[in-house]
Amino acid sequence: MLTKQVSLNQVFSEKYRRVLVTGGAGFIGGAVIRRLLDFQGIIVFNLDKLTYSSDLYSINEKLKSLGSDSDKKYTFIKADLCDEKIIEDAINKANPDLILHLAAESHVDRSIENPRIFINSNIVGTFNLLQSSLRHFNNLSTDRKKYFRFHHISTDEVFGSLEKDSFFSEKTKYDPRSPYSASKAASDHLVNAWQNTYGLPISITNCSNNYGPWQFPEKLIPLITLKAIQGEKIPLYGDGKNIRDWLYVEDHVEAILATTFYGEIRKNYCVGGKNQLSNLFVAESICELLDQYLKKEFSHKKLISFVKDRPGHDKRYAINPNLISEEIGWVPKFDFDDGLKKTVFWYINNKLWCDRILRKSGYKGQRIGDLSKI
Ligand code: NAD
Repeated sequence: MLTKQVSLNQVFSEKYRRVLVTGGAGFIGGAVIRRLLDFQGIIVFNLDKLTYSSDLYSINEKLKSLGSDSDKKYTFIKADLCDEKIIEDAINKANPDLILHLAAESHVDRSIENPRIFINSNIVGTFNLLQSSLRHFNNLSTDRKKYFRFHHISTDEVFGSLEKDSFFSEKTKYDPRSPYSASKAASDHLVNAWQNTYGLPISITNCSNNYGPWQFPEKLIPLITLKAIQGEKIPLYGDGKNIRDWLYVEDHVEAILATTFYGEIRKNYCVGGKNQLSNLFVAESICELLDQYLKKEFSHKKLISFVKDRPGHDKRYAINPNLISEEIGWVPKFDFDDGLKKTVFWYINNKLWCDRILRKSGYKGQRIGDLSKI
């Protein structure tokens, strides 16, 4: 929810007519694109490599609902950020006023098993995108230069792990602990350096854990939900007491879009839902919802089991979102109970989508990133 007066649609149709989203076939990028497609007077370009976690179904459904004009509003560009030449061509084709950079490898467990792909996509890929974006920015007219923005979507995981009672804020020192968070931290530093050295107008949001519909079912909430629906064991790492600060994906989207306009250049903004919950609490809440919806003769909580901890597992994340609230007027709209209900209900009703994306990806719900098996 935004408490500022000017509507985002108005801002976009006046300043950001051509928007390039990287990673738009993913969970958060897809939510960004579906939101942007509701705005009048803008053209959206979706650049994505289409990795295992990606899917265009939700966007295609949205486009169908918009009718015959939709192909003038949206273009998909299949491209790998690691391919310098293709990225240069894509930027020239999109000719953007705003770049929202979400494309990344995003799963910590996979980064433990195969870090190289994280270094390539998240670091080298961001470097390629910055280089092409800078050339594009330097060639813009003075008028378009005034508004151009490169906004980088990052994570709170770059700050490491928190002790009890403290919070991450924009002043927190970077201390990434996993190959994933280290690669995201590196990309944040590159983005800042391209502002400081070359004058590219950038901003960054560091957000806490997102949840909601259309998330690839390897992440905690959909994984637990699908395993529980199938009556399979629900694996929780360690003692289940690791704490994450959960944010409903649509709230993250509003924070990203508002920051591109109201946020200051070269600033990073911490985004979080003030929902610090243990993994065990989240698992039990999902089980309670499934008990209500599915009315089985057993409680789904019986499926919860504890497995060997993730190597280097960060204990606690929690965000102090005061800066983005005060400067940008953003506050989350969804409380955790409502967001979780919507999400669990969505996974119950969209089992076909889950089966299809799982089949396509080859992922069968197995543990990834177990050091003893690497
Ligand atoms: P996701 O895995 O669902 O989507 C990532 C998308 O990026 C996919 O569509 C994939 O095909 C694309 N991609 C990956 N490598 C690429 C490459 N080399 N070239 C082009 N496209 C590529 O991830 P998500 O959860 O939607 O996360 C999106 C962004 O938000 C990431 O940058 C992530 O670090 C950040 N983020 C995620 C969360 C979260 O809880 N999911 C929280 C904070 C920040």
